Amino acid sequence: MGVFRCPGCGYVYDEAKGAPREGFPAGTMWAQVPDDWTCPDCAVREKPDFEEVT
Ligand SMILES: [Zn+2]
Repeated sequence: MGVFRCPGCGYVYDEAKGAPREGFPAGTMWAQVPDDWTCPDCAVREKPDFEEVT
């Protein structure tokens, strides 16, 4: 399970937790998130801008 961070505001998407309020249940893989999905916190950055947290 991977974790991805918005470089603009620091919002973190965790595949293990998903983003239920965004319509992605726990376990939703990053690859399943649409490329035009925008960060729910800043609404500025899109999925391709996110950086994987290692
Ligand atoms: Zn953001």
